[in-house]
Amino acid sequence: MLKVAAVLPESLGAELGLAAGDDLLSINGKDLADFLDWEFLAADDAFLLRVRTAAGEDVEFDIERPEDLPLGVMLEPPRIRRCANRCDFCFVDGNPGGSRKTLFIRDDDYRLSFRHGNFATLSNLRDKDVRRILEYRLSPLYVSVHATDADVRRRLLRNPKAPAILEQLAMFAAGGIQFHAQIVLVPGVNDGAVLERSLEELWAMGEPVLTVSVVPVALTDFSKHELVRAPLEAEARAAVATIERWSARGSAERGEGWVYGSDELYMLADLPFPPAESYDGFPQVENGVGSVRYLEGLVAAELEALPDLTGRRVLVCTGTAMGRLMPHLLPTLARATGGTFELAVLENTYYGRIVTSAGLLPGEAFARALAGRSDCALALLPAESVNDEGVFVDDVSLASIEAAAPMSVALSYHFTDALTGVPAT
Ligand code: SF4
Repeated sequence: MLKVAAVLPESLGAELGLAAGDDLLSINGKDLADFLDWEFLAADDAFLLRVRTAAGEDVEFDIERPEDLPLGVMLEPPRIRRCANRCDFCFVDGNPGGSRKTLFIRDDDYRLSFRHGNFATLSNLRDKDVRRILEYRLSPLYVSVHATDADVRRRLLRNPKAPAILEQLAMFAAGGIQFHAQIVLVPGVNDGAVLERSLEELWAMGEPVLTVSVVPVALTDFSKHELVRAPLEAEARAAVATIERWSARGSAERGEGWVYGSDELYMLADLPFPPAESYDGFPQVENGVGSVRYLEGLVAAELEALPDLTGRRVLVCTGTAMGRLMPHLLPTLARATGGTFELAVLENTYYGRIVTSAGLLPGEAFARALAGRSDCALALLPAESVNDEGVFVDDVSLASIEAAAPMSVALSYHFTDALTGVPAT
């Protein structure tokens, strides 16, 4: 059963009289368990929909979808599938008390893997889930492989019952499912020969494995440091060397690099990022793979659309990772707009200095950076540092920061998205 959250005007749902609070029960006699059932079963041109209205009345609609009218039915968010693992590097364990509530959810949901590209381990699948993945052709899936050796993977996941991932992937691949894989690199556990073997076995699966990313384990001051540590520079360099060897093979034999190291891995290795074209269209940019090159490309493409900011000062807030890389971008923006761009590199006072990502900065750090800066016309905050409700990791709201700030505040993914909306001087 699915609860309707809203119905868009000028939609088929509105014409039928559906409304928030109604329960969608079944389509063509098949019970609706979640948004996947709804999306796939309601995609037919004609179907029978059974609904229980908010008033408790059961109604059946014999629907023939007009071509140009959307269904317009928004569902309440799904109940997230919890994970069956206990990884030593789990981010949930790295949260201090008082963090945003949703940061404590250990989600491992194949549906969100398909819909939003969230990585899932597939270690909590029931037979029913396997059937749905195949029946609905949920492809590509984003899979946390970590290691193809089943024992090493079970150790990493702290889950002795985790199925052998290669067998699982092969079974789905036979049903036409493709994958983007990630390997979270834990030194001494799945680097070195284990990484080599994982890449070899994933490569041998052929086309179903579309890409592989290798990202170093991310820890905070609160993580289980007695059990897991970040790669040292030499370890990160060794991993990059392995990745680049396989990537050269991918380019030669398949026309694409296939395996990519994350920006964080290159920074740990103290190596320059590969050029933008090495990322083959940035298939795993959401996973921090090629983010800097991607950002450079977006800025370059939008320069001419930027407003005249002559005489105005813009405060660009970011974390220590991007803080090292940003200085070469800001002069370009200053030249294009005539404005002055000042970089505020913020240390993470919430998770600890070892957390360098801008997306994990607490609201309190931004509030401090903006306080008293009435010389600035605008402050840009990294858009990925708030959730959909506009709340930072420390439960501080963006609205409260905007209210206290002496300048305009804008969230920005790549500068130009926020700057193009700024009125010219
Ligand atoms: S799979 Fe591991 S890292 Fe992910 S939520 Fe579960 S325990 Fe945490």
